[in-house]
Amino acid sequence: MTKKQSPQALAKLEQGFRKTPDSCENCKHFSKRVEEKSYKSWNGRVMHWTVDKSLRCNVGDFATLKRATCNKHELVTA
Ligand code: SF4
Repeated sequence: MTKKQSPQALAKLEQGFRKTPDSCENCKHFSKRVEEKSYKSWNGRVMHWTVDKSLRCNVGDFATLKRATCNKHELVTA
């Protein structure tokens, strides 16, 4: 048995609706280096986080931003 989709859900499918617009961050030509950071707080607890560095476009080989885009954008799939 298949569940019937609402008209809104079908319209979204037909229009190619998605919550993330085309940007360097979801482009297959984007690369970055992930740097791990840590900090020992006053109570001895160690906090860990990551910072994205060296954001680059591999087509033009230039520095870019996660939310930038261009005409050569290709969506990363899977
Ligand atoms: S500049 Fe264009 S091709 Fe390069 S990563 Fe961004 S969207 Fe992709």
